[in-house]
Amino acid sequence: MKVLVAVKRVIDFNVKIRIKTDGSGVETANVKMSMNPFDEIAVEEAVRLKEAKLATEIVAVSMGAAQCQETIRTALAMGADRGIHVPTDVELQPLAVAKLLQVIVAKEQPRLVILGKQAIDDDCNQTGQMLAALLGWAQGTFASKLKLEADAATVTREIDGGLETVKLKLPAVVTTDLRLNEPRYASLPNIMKAKKKTIEQMTPEALGVDPKPRLTTLKVAEPPKRHAGKKLASVAELVDKLRNEARVI
Ligand code: AMP
Repeated sequence: MKVLVAVKRVIDFNVKIRIKTDGSGVETANVKMSMNPFDEIAVEEAVRLKEAKLATEIVAVSMGAAQCQETIRTALAMGADRGIHVPTDVELQPLAVAKLLQVIVAKEQPRLVILGKQAIDDDCNQTGQMLAALLGWAQGTFASKLKLEADAATVTREIDGGLETVKLKLPAVVTTDLRLNEPRYASLPNIMKAKKKTIEQMTPEALGVDPKPRLTTLKVAEPPKRHAGKKLASVAELVDKLRNEARVI
C-alpha cells in the first residue's frame, strides 16, 4: 500500500514570532524554519506502517519555495522513500494545497494520505478536510490512533470531551493529532542515505492548478500585551480587588 504524506515548511515552533512593521504578515527573513510538527507525526506514522509491513512505499510532498526540499529531505531521512516538490512563490492557501494534492493523488494512486491536522503558521486546519472532499474519500481527522487493514482504517479521534473511533473505507485521508506518536530523530546514516533519494518537481502549471490565493490578509497584529501579575497578601485583598478593580464579583 502506497502512503502519501504532506509536509509543510513552517517557522520553527521554538521561534518567537515577529510581525512585519507594516502589519502585512509575519517576518520570515533569517528565521529558523522546520517541518510542521504535526507533519513530523504524519511521517512517523507512515514509517511505522512501513516497518509493520502495512505500507510499501512512502511519498513525501511539500509545496512552496525551493527550501521545501530541505523539509522533504527531513522526511526522507526519517524513512520516506521519495519526495515530490511543488515549487511556487505564490502564497499557498489550504484550497490550493488541497487541489494540488488532489492531482498528485490521481497520479500516484496512494491508498492513504496522511496530513497534519493543522499547520502551526496559519492554524487553518482545513487542507485534509478539503482534500477528502475533493477526492470524495473518507476522512479521519485529529487521529490519536490509527489501525490499518487491507481495505479499512480505524481511527481514534480526539474530540471535545473524549475520544471517537471511526472506521474508514480505503482510500482515505487521515490528519494527525499530537498524541498519535512521538516522531523519531533521523540518524546520521539515514540523513546520508536520504541525500540519494529522489525528489521530483511538479509545478502547479504542470499539475493544471491555479494556486493563487482566494483570500486576502487585511492585517496581522500582535496580541494585546498582558499586564504583569501581582502577589496579594490575603484572600480579603483578593476579594476586594475582584470587587472594586476588576469588578467581576
Ligand atoms: P492547514 O490546513 O493549513 O492547517 O494545514 C494542514 C496540513 O496540510 C499540514 O499539516 C500539512 O500536512 C498540509 N499542508 C498545508 N500546506 C502545505 C504545503 N505548502 N505543503 C505541504 N503540505 C501542506
